Amino acid sequence: MTRDLNPATIAAHAAGAVDPQSAGVVPSIQPATTFMRDESYALIRPDNVYSRDHSDTVRMAETVLRELEQAQDTLLFPAGMAAIAAVFRTLRAGDVAVIQSGIYWGTTKWVRDFCARRDVTLHEVDASDLTALQTKCAEQKPALVFIETPSNPWLKIVDIEAAAQATHDAGGILVVDATAATPILMKPLALGADIVMHSATKAINGHSDVLAGVLSTNTPDAKIWDIIKADRHDAGAVLGPFEAWLLIRGMRTLPLRVERMTQNAETLAAFLHGHPMIDDVLYPGLPHHTGHDTASQQMTGFGSLMSVLVKGDASDALRIVGKLKLFLRATSLGGVESLVEHRHTIEPHTGIPENLIRVSVGIEDIDDLIADWTEALG
Ligand SMILES: *Cc1c(COP(=O)(O)O)cnc(C)c1O
Repeated sequence: MTRDLNPATIAAHAAGAVDPQSAGVVPSIQPATTFMRDESYALIRPDNVYSRDHSDTVRMAETVLRELEQAQDTLLFPAGMAAIAAVFRTLRAGDVAVIQSGIYWGTTKWVRDFCARRDVTLHEVDASDLTALQTKCAEQKPALVFIETPSNPWLKIVDIEAAAQATHDAGGILVVDATAATPILMKPLALGADIVMHSATKAINGHSDVLAGVLSTNTPDAKIWDIIKADRHDAGAVLGPFEAWLLIRGMRTLPLRVERMTQNAETLAAFLHGHPMIDDVLYPGLPHHTGHDTASQQMTGFGSLMSVLVKGDASDALRIVGKLKLFLRATSLGGVESLVEHRHTIEPHTGIPENLIRVSVGIEDIDDLIADWTEALG
């Protein structure tokens, strides 16, 4: 075809992955760890040596993600955290890094520990406050700036274009964790980010049965990308072929799932915002949200993640969470099934309000989801 395909087509066709050997319309899983050479000791398939170097199944999954992201290169990792670690491991003693405050707690905790161990100077800033981010970049000249938008669980929105400008003016590299947006709703690379990261464990896989992470770039010749690539290969932070195969399968419906989840989330957020038992709903799709305008500009939908502040304290939040039947009480987000989480119970030391319920909206029937909340709120 002469024109570029749209995301729903790329995803449904798994970017053309089929099985040439059997003529199956689904690619096979190649679990071999090692690959043969011919009589003259030349590799039979020059790019296949050993599965830590890469595997066909992983390559297929990366192709789908690269095309969806409109990126020039994409690397899969065995977890979102492994992808984040790969980025920070490019830093050296004496370097300065800036991360957004109040983001995914696993990131904050690991980055703090890593930077302390490595003698990297770390600054945390509320990057949704653009002036604060610009000032921090101008003052500290960070080598790396890491933001997460929409952020988890505060749903803060960072202006990616402005963040890229501030980072580049300081001579640094901007990395965006776009997990809550997915490659369907937001294209950080087109907005100036150097690297986009996703926990593919979440909506990209979408079925709560694969742990994976992904990095993509449009500057594959950059030094940082070389280091990341070499480190993944040499240190072996690779995804297994079974996980890659499940990812290919899950991603076939990614645009469809994201569309439904976003619709459901928009309707649920508006319903909860108007409910007398609810204090506030943090969701960028609501017009009163401070990041609504920026989100409207840089996203084509507001995603499926929200946080609900109920009237009352921890016991009121826990009572409501305990009464929900369709929203399963579990961590994580982006799956076909709706989930709720009382983060304060799990992370009481991270400044999460005790009346906050984090909600990941699935693809269920919206009337059933609203009925569940109506009953739980009593
Ligand atoms: C889950 C998550 C991560 C970590 O990804 P894993 O696949 O669990 O390692 C990073 N960032 C965000 C925003 C997440 O939601």
